[in-house]
Amino acid sequence: MEESLTKELSNVIRAIQDYPKPGIVFRDVTTLLQDARAFRRSVDALVHPYIGIGLDQVAGIEARGFILGGAIAHQLTAGFIPVRKKGKLPGEKVNIAYSLEYGVDEMEMHRDAVSPGDKVLLVDDLIATGGTAEAAVKLLKELGADVIAACFVIDLPDLGGRKKIESHGVPVRTLIEFEGE
Ligand code: AMP
Repeated sequence: MEESLTKELSNVIRAIQDYPKPGIVFRDVTTLLQDARAFRRSVDALVHPYIGIGLDQVAGIEARGFILGGAIAHQLTAGFIPVRKKGKLPGEKVNIAYSLEYGVDEMEMHRDAVSPGDKVLLVDDLIATGGTAEAAVKLLKELGADVIAACFVIDLPDLGGRKKIESHGVPVRTLIEFEGE
């Protein structure tokens, strides 16, 4: 029988203790991405619910959301739009400030990345507090997008991100959960 995806993912996602600071367990997906079968199965699983729904765009959050989002967009024959850190996009932008653990940061999208009513799927590797994805949802909605769902490989449920995104009426889909931060 085929190994369950959750089991396979738990074997290929590397945990790095105390990175980027003491007390944090960094869930490193580079070890997943370098594993051809795990990468393929993850993308297939993330894509599956959205086949045939007429998705217009996949929005990927810099930087690991670009890798997954590009592959997902290709599979769904959708466009790809980047949600980037401040100062990286060359065209006319919309901008939003959001809270990080220490201080605030800003993210940006091109103003013409989405047409009103476009069906958009938001993608990142991991949801923790949900602050990053929430800012992206707000930007997409400001541009008139219909954010049909947000999907992530990893959920850290103790940090409450899923509920934060769902409170905006956006369903959340993840492939594996890890306890703690
Ligand atoms: P948050 O805004 O708290 O949901 O954090 C999500 C963003 O931070 C994502 O882009 C993740 O890649 C990154 N991130 C947060 N916590 C972790 C962690 N424990 N391991 C790996 N990446 C993380």
